[in-house]
Amino acid sequence: MANSQLHLKKAREIADLVNNGKITAVEVAKYFLERAKILDEKVNAFNSFTTELALKQAAEVDQKIKNGEKLLLAGVPIAIKDNICVENTKTTCSSKMLENFIAPYESTVTSKLWAAGAICIGKTNLDEFAMGSSTEHSAFGPTRNPWDLNRVPGGSSGGSAAAVASRIVPLSLGSDTGGSIRQPAGLCGIVGLKPSYGFISRFGLIAFASSLDQIGPFATDLEDAQLLLSVIAGHDPKDSTSLKNTPAFKAQIENKSNLKNLKIGLIKELMLNEENAPADLVLKFNESIKSLKLAGAEIKEVSLPISTAHALDVYYIVAPAEASSNLARYDGVRYGYRDETALSLNPMYAQTRAKGFGKEVIRRIMIGTYALSSGYYDAYYKKALQVRRLISEEFEKVFTEFDVLISPTSPMTAFPFGDKLNDPLAMYLCDIATIPANLAGLPAISINCGFDEKNLPIGFQLMAAHGQDEKLMDASFDFQNIFKNSSNIQSQIPSIAL
Ligand code: GLN
Repeated sequence: MANSQLHLKKAREIADLVNNGKITAVEVAKYFLERAKILDEKVNAFNSFTTELALKQAAEVDQKIKNGEKLLLAGVPIAIKDNICVENTKTTCSSKMLENFIAPYESTVTSKLWAAGAICIGKTNLDEFAMGSSTEHSAFGPTRNPWDLNRVPGGSSGGSAAAVASRIVPLSLGSDTGGSIRQPAGLCGIVGLKPSYGFISRFGLIAFASSLDQIGPFATDLEDAQLLLSVIAGHDPKDSTSLKNTPAFKAQIENKSNLKNLKIGLIKELMLNEENAPADLVLKFNESIKSLKLAGAEIKEVSLPISTAHALDVYYIVAPAEASSNLARYDGVRYGYRDETALSLNPMYAQTRAKGFGKEVIRRIMIGTYALSSGYYDAYYKKALQVRRLISEEFEKVFTEFDVLISPTSPMTAFPFGDKLNDPLAMYLCDIATIPANLAGLPAISINCGFDEKNLPIGFQLMAAHGQDEKLMDASFDFQNIFKNSSNIQSQIPSIAL
């Protein structure tokens, strides 16, 4: 079997080839490891490669195939965001604090991947502790967008998104607390899914904001995203927020829904216009809506005044509050980096944290500590939780009328390095459309709907009610096919990836 151009194959095609003995998992692993090391010089999607582990896993898969087993992800290379623990492997969160941290245990999602035959290629770059929207807040240097190497890939899962977009791997895992899977997927022109809160185990995911964090798949199309979802989803007694009624997702999309019967709500407040977005982006996004209507979709405008006006405010109290608590453990004693120059205990804590964390992480810890402090708790944290409830209720009400809600994933396409780095609020605004789904625990996805004038990908977001992930995937599948057929999409693959 000629194994040239393996990188242009879908994950499911690679699994078929390996399952049918047309190629060995070891051959696949070697091909992708070699490609990764060359391409990543340009992209910097990876913090580390797990070469030894990959070859060991691949040999085990080949043995199982020889014994007649069939595996859903037989020999499929995957990259793992570097805030998800892979046993005996460096897990850094792209922070100096954890630069030399070797995970002593395996996360539930990755143990499911290895059992399904996937091969770990490496750990991917992120904004430090997943705080950011551009991957520029990594202690190890930014990841580059494969569509334009002078631009950000989005964040915080920028490494995982860029690794898939540049076809270094067909699949990767990210985590999404306020948009960190969907926003980089949008900016890199691929599919990124945040499942319903509670459907994917967080055991082994290094916590940022536990009530919002959710692991999810990146892939080049819906079918591959569904395959990966089917492997990683499921109840896990090791995660107290994991849901017992998590559905057993099928490996393939069944596409039972009929586009014409689907009740689709276009979120009015998130629409792009000349005041909040560049003209070419507005035009192209509106064209994608038109192509849906032309295909027979019925789209009604819907208003979500509370969720759109207040989500960002609520998020930037709740997320930093939880982060300040979760990150208290990095004290120089129990984990990671320690500043050795201090002469006594308190200065050791202070200097370890001042030197071990980057600027954005320190900013979040300070905001969170402030919002939780006794004099301000009621005014900030408690109030934020009350508004969060109102946001959930607003969605619940709207979903009695609609099957899916749609919007752009972000109000911009990939921006140049440094563009928003000195303006935290501008950076935070990247997530205006993605954060509401995290606050309400909803499943949400970003798919590509076209390109702007600079040939940068445009992300299209769909959301569904909590637990309606299958309906979301079904609908997105129809949308994907419509966008692929419309004249919007000139080229699906960045030239660097060919
Ligand atoms: N960009 C958002 C933040 O900085 C979301 C990050 C995420 O989803 N991990 O918090």
